[in-house]
Amino acid sequence: MKVEKRPLEDIRAEAMACTRCQLCDGRTNVVFGAGNEHARVLIVGEAPGRNEDLQGMPFVGAAGKFLDELLAAAGLTRDEVYIANVLKCRPPSNRNPKPEEIEACAPFLREQTQSIDPVVIVTMGNFATQFILRTQVGITKLRGTTQRAGRFTVLPVYHPAAAIYDRSKRDVLLSDFEKVGAIARATIQPKQEEGQR
Ligand code: URA
Repeated sequence: MKVEKRPLEDIRAEAMACTRCQLCDGRTNVVFGAGNEHARVLIVGEAPGRNEDLQGMPFVGAAGKFLDELLAAAGLTRDEVYIANVLKCRPPSNRNPKPEEIEACAPFLREQTQSIDPVVIVTMGNFATQFILRTQVGITKLRGTTQRAGRFTVLPVYHPAAAIYDRSKRDVLLSDFEKVGAIARATIQPKQEEGQR
């Protein structure tokens, strides 16, 4: 399905007023996404947690601190990437997103992706990976591999929150983000050089 390209601010305004699913009842803030609107790397998480809901910004809690380390391992900063989630509102007690919530919220992430038009999409965890790749295959199988979704290169990795509870995932994530950096440089550099010709 072709998704029309709209300015990010228009999509954000629509998300801010969204009542398409029950999560609107419990939210403090819609967490639309943040970062560079022209980013070549889009990072997709699952859903806002408590801190994100309170601040209206993605990945500002413990998982966000680790994400900053992971970005540094990739040679990237938050200003260079765009960070968004599959769900824009916090599920109560951080439970898993429900299929009907994902379906209701899906148009926002689809439109964000079209608007930002990244080269590389990093999907963190099962929900983001299965959404972007339209697959049922789990993250344990897909992490560390290079995939395609239409014109995008997709790099699935574990969710950084998973490494908070399972320290063995830390090193895997760090090495996967080093790969993210290498692939981002390899795919983005030629595109920029082409543009300069
Ligand atoms: N986990 C996510 O998937 N997204 C956030 O924004 C914060 C924690």
